[in-house]
Amino acid sequence: MSKETADPNEIRDSDIVFNCPFCGKSLAIDCRGAGLTISCPDCGNKLEVPIPENMEVTDIDSSDEDKAVRLIHMREVISESQKRILDLEAEVKDITLRRDSLETIRTENAIRFEVIQHEIEAIQRAFLRISEVLDSVGNSGRTA
Ligand SMILES: [Zn+2]
Repeated sequence: MSKETADPNEIRDSDIVFNCPFCGKSLAIDCRGAGLTISCPDCGNKLEVPIPENMEVTDIDSSDEDKAVRLIHMREVISESQKRILDLEAEVKDITLRRDSLETIRTENAIRFEVIQHEIEAIQRAFLRISEVLDSVGNSGRTA
């Protein structure tokens, strides 16, 4: 009943013929599909049907039915884009949290490093005092 059920190998004059940008497969889409996002029948990637330069928008939306189909498709694209935006926002939030936690760890490490450095200095001072005491014991032993 509809044109979509016709032999898919038959290319009509009104078809837009282009290559899939992902797998290079030659595709023929009804001209009403211009500008729509479709899935490549070969590789399954989402791709946008190019709008031929000589094509007027009025050629695409020729009837009310076509307009309705196009509108529904546009809504699908918009809803998909909105989902993608939400996904990306969640991803950004995730990365920001990870960055904050890395920053916290870095700060903690810097503080820990400072504490260790103080401890090393204290140990060095202690060793210095021990060697001074040993020296004085040795000297007093010698002088005695
Ligand atoms: Zn493809």
